[in-house]
Amino acid sequence: MPISDKLYFANCFKIFAKMPIFVALKKLRMKLLKGTKLYSIFTSKCPVCHKGDMYVENNPYKVTKLMKMHEFCSHCGKKFKIEPSFFFGAMYVSYAVGVAIAVAAFIISFFFLDLGRNYSFLAIIITLAVLFPIIVRVSRNIWINFFVDYDREKAEK
Ligand SMILES: [Zn+2]
Repeated sequence: MPISDKLYFANCFKIFAKMPIFVALKKLRMKLLKGTKLYSIFTSKCPVCHKGDMYVENNPYKVTKLMKMHEFCSHCGKKFKIEPSFFFGAMYVSYAVGVAIAVAAFIISFFFLDLGRNYSFLAIIITLAVLFPIIVRVSRNIWINFFVDYDREKAEK
């Protein structure tokens, strides 16, 4: 695909994402999730108040800052690294998340796209590589949400 076509599609996507209906849907989705663990997991917000950011850099694809976390929540003061090497345990979660994504990639490429065995395995590897920063973040978020619950009082303080 020529570069100009790629730019064209990228711009179409950006325009679609900015259409009021999609913006409204996104807001509604986030409103429905607010107060649940899923909100904290998908937005990387503090698991206690859902207000402060856990990571210094919000975009996980700025890979040099992928793991850089604030020490405390800017809103409620929660210490994110509950104990030394707390996020070591997130490795177990990332294993599960990785396997789930690999299975999904395989099912889509093998059964739906009919890519054959070799290309399906290639599709798994590419999917895991491309999603790696997201898997790392989501795993950490799931891990901390195992131990810490949402607290409405602290959120509204
Ligand atoms: Zn907080």
